Amino acid sequence: MLRPSILPGEYALGYQGRFACLNGWRSEEQLNQALLDVSGHSGGTFLDVSRVEALSMAAGLTVENFVSHHTTIPLRRAFVADDAILSHGNTQQRDILSMSALKHMDARAYFCQVCMNEDLTQYGLSYWRRMHQILGAYHCPTHCVPLCYSRGIKSFKGSPLFHAKCPEVVSFEWVLDFFKCAPILRYVEICMELLNQSAPKRINLISSVLRAEAKINGIHHGQGKVNGIYFSDYILDILNVVWLEKIVPEASTKFRGTYFQSIDGVLVDTSIGAAWLCCINKVFEINSLQSL
Ligand SMILES: [Zn+2]
Repeated sequence: MLRPSILPGEYALGYQGRFACLNGWRSEEQLNQALLDVSGHSGGTFLDVSRVEALSMAAGLTVENFVSHHTTIPLRRAFVADDAILSHGNTQQRDILSMSALKHMDARAYFCQVCMNEDLTQYGLSYWRRMHQILGAYHCPTHCVPLCYSRGIKSFKGSPLFHAKCPEVVSFEWVLDFFKCAPILRYVEICMELLNQSAPKRINLISSVLRAEAKINGIHHGQGKVNGIYFSDYILDILNVVWLEKIVPEASTKFRGTYFQSIDGVLVDTSIGAAWLCCINKVFEINSLQSL
């Protein structure tokens, strides 16, 4: 069995595809058996060991290292309650490792053609990068060019080079619109920042800062009598709604002057999605996550 070294910033699902491809395994069963073998669970199932743990062993990394640097868990689990502050990939959180560590956030698999060409020169192969899989980011943070994509999670079974033969590309005009929108650019920056966190941040700290900022900005920030503009109206006024739909499903169905749980709810409870909170950070001009 060949166990390829994992590459800098390589996406876990892409590594899994490269692992299978390098060994010539065409079926899911062959790959699964190999992962169970490499994790010391030959004859077992993924109830005995999570797939992400098996992949980390194939890559020769600790599960914490693998999860922190090669999955989107640091973004999806960026903010948690006090009692869940364990580092990303901590084996005490078996439900996360089993259920969501390898979850892909989009229906598309994204890659940058400039990164791909550089990787071909440097490594002799192309690979999927985690930073290109940020929900709502349509350009490469390194090269500021629109991303290419292939449809479906099965795309990760082949390399970006394979898909580059007939790529679909995010509209240049679409990306140019985003470059003119500071909150969206900041959103991508903050997501990149969160991806590099080895542990989540405490949500109660974030929530209190958000409520204080809402008060300063004249935004309704509590329950009961409405004082000021709804936060959802404020957001819809300054962000491209088509883009916002990607981060907050059904945002376009909201009526002005009405409460919209997915957005207004962030100021009255703690069920805040990481991606959405990134957006709020910029909206309120909170400059750095480090200050929280
Ligand atoms: Zn790039």
